[in-house]
Amino acid sequence: MSLSLDPTQLDRYSRHIIMDEVGPEGQQALLDAAVLVVGAGGLGAPVIQYLAAAGVGELGIADDDEVELSNLQRQIIHGDDDVGRPKVESAADFVADLNPDVTVRTHEVRVEPDNVEELIADYDFVVDATDNFRTRYLVNDACTLSGTPFSHGAIYKFEGQVTTFTTEGPCYRCLFPEAPPEGMVADCATTGVLGVLPGTVGCIQATETVKHLLGAGEVLDGRMVFYDAMDMSFEEVEFRPNPDCPVCGDDPIDSVAQVEYAEESCPVNAD
Ligand SMILES: [Zn+2]
Repeated sequence: MSLSLDPTQLDRYSRHIIMDEVGPEGQQALLDAAVLVVGAGGLGAPVIQYLAAAGVGELGIADDDEVELSNLQRQIIHGDDDVGRPKVESAADFVADLNPDVTVRTHEVRVEPDNVEELIADYDFVVDATDNFRTRYLVNDACTLSGTPFSHGAIYKFEGQVTTFTTEGPCYRCLFPEAPPEGMVADCATTGVLGVLPGTVGCIQATETVKHLLGAGEVLDGRMVFYDAMDMSFEEVEFRPNPDCPVCGDDPIDSVAQVEYAEESCPVNAD
C-alpha cells in the first residue's frame, strides 16, 4: 500500500488520521476499499452516508427501486426533488455532493441468482441493507460461498437486528436455515416502521464496515445484536457455525444455482 493522501485529504480526514487506531495507513485503506451496499433504502441511506463521509474509495450501490414520497420519512439520502428518480441515481448525487474522493458504481438491478456472484466479485465487503428475505438469503449464500465478508441488518416496526459475517464464523443460514413461511413476516409497507430505526441499525452496519476495513476492534462475528427502540435496549446473542449448514457447513453447496429463491422461503435443494 502506498500512501498518497493529498493536503485536502489530510484535512478532510484529520479526525481519523490523528487516531492511532486509524492513522494515515488506515485512512488509505478506506480510500483503497470497495464496498457494495445492497439496497439504497432505510438501512442503505445511513450506510452510504457514513461510508462516503469516511472516504471509502469505491462505493457500489445496488437497487432497482425509484424514490417514493413515503420513503422520505426514513431514507435520508433522498430528498423531495428525488421522488420518481431511481434510488441509485439519487444516492450517487448525494455521495458526489458529500465527498468527491468516492467513486460510486451504480447497479440499477434487482439482485438475482444469475447476477449476484458477478455483482459482489469486485468488492471487499458487502452491506446487506435489503428489506426482503429473498435478497437476504441470496446475499448470504453468494457472499459466504465466495468468502466475502458482509454486514447483515434487518428492521421490524420498532426493533432491529444486526451482525457481521466474516469467513471465520457462522453465516445467516446457520442461524435461520430457511426464511419463515409466506405471510409470517410482513414488510415495512404493511406494518410500518419508526423512521429513525433504520438510522440506528444502519449506523451500526456502517461502523462494522469501517472497523472491518481498518482491521480495528472486534466485529460482531458470531454475535447478533437485537435492538428495541421502545425499551431502548440492546441485547446480544452468540451463535456458532452449524456443521450441517448447507452453505458454510461440512458439505456445502457449490453455487447459488442450487438454491430455489422463492419470494419467501429459500430452501436449499436436497440434491
Ligand atoms: Zn452457515
